[in-house]
Amino acid sequence: MNLINGKAVAQKILLEIRTEVEKLKLRGHVPGLAVVLVGDDPASRAYVRSKDKTCHELGMYSQKFELPAATTQEELVALVRKLNADPAIHGILVQSPPPPHIDESAVIEAIDPRKDVDGFHPVNVAKVVLGAEDAFVPCTPLGCQRLLIEAGVETAGAHVVVLGRSMIVGKPMALLLMQKGPGGDATVTVAHSRTRDLAAVCRTADILIAAIGKPEFVKADFVKEGAVVIDVGINRVADASTASGTKLVGDVAFAEVAPKCRAITPVPGGVGPMTIAMLMHNTVQACTRLAG
Ligand code: NDP
Repeated sequence: MNLINGKAVAQKILLEIRTEVEKLKLRGHVPGLAVVLVGDDPASRAYVRSKDKTCHELGMYSQKFELPAATTQEELVALVRKLNADPAIHGILVQSPPPPHIDESAVIEAIDPRKDVDGFHPVNVAKVVLGAEDAFVPCTPLGCQRLLIEAGVETAGAHVVVLGRSMIVGKPMALLLMQKGPGGDATVTVAHSRTRDLAAVCRTADILIAAIGKPEFVKADFVKEGAVVIDVGINRVADASTASGTKLVGDVAFAEVAPKCRAITPVPGGVGPMTIAMLMHNTVQACTRLAG
């Protein structure tokens, strides 16, 4: 079994991005990312801080907005519009999920598609479906695809089962894998909570991508001998043996699944670091395009 070290691959990609940032700076452009958080969800707060920190490490400009939970829809949309017009900002990200009184799709639709580095705006969703070169692809599936390429896992002709059909991970993941070209050309099955005999469907996968948000749900009997497993899940569960009393686990029962795999990603240290690296990549792309 090979462990696919997402942290190491992400570090390598961040080094490449740093070089691109330096080149842009020589031309007078500093890629700028605005990250907006509404409310005080601790996990979201940690994600926002880590995005801000990575921007600084790469020499990029970053603006972090931590707004109170009582922020209204109108106030949030007004901020997004202000950032749309700000020439120092090339990427805008509104951390999900917002508090329930906020209509997330209305906020996403207010983002200028050219600054939508999360790839959630309908214009970018359509561009991903069309396979357009200037699409912003959601960072997590883009990171999974890049991880497969960097780990030398051939997707062409492979049967990939994507477990989960969310707009953030499962659906765009399936679209990327079925496109023509590197990291694509796969035969894709999308499975979800209504799939009949889920374990049997998953067992047909050469590559299994788990994105369901259920701790250690994918057991050894879901996995064919010699398969590649990409675990997108990030779940915090109780663990009395740690100082915090909790630990992070994926959607895959790593200990029993790993021995059957040709390669597998760990949690943490697999897909997570790739997601942030792809956000930086998208922001540099946005800056390059807007700079003309
Ligand atoms: P969602 O809750 O939006 O979607 C979950 C999907 O899994 C749905 O399609 C759902 O099916 C399916 N599902 C849920 N339970 C089952 C089940 N018992 N059997 C089969 N299918 C099931 O989650 P996300 O896509 O946003 O996230 C998935 C996981 O990935 C989470 O653990 C999340 O934390 C993690 N994540 C990690 C990121 C990273 O950077 N590594 C980034 C984003 C997410 P149905 O549609 O039928 O309800």
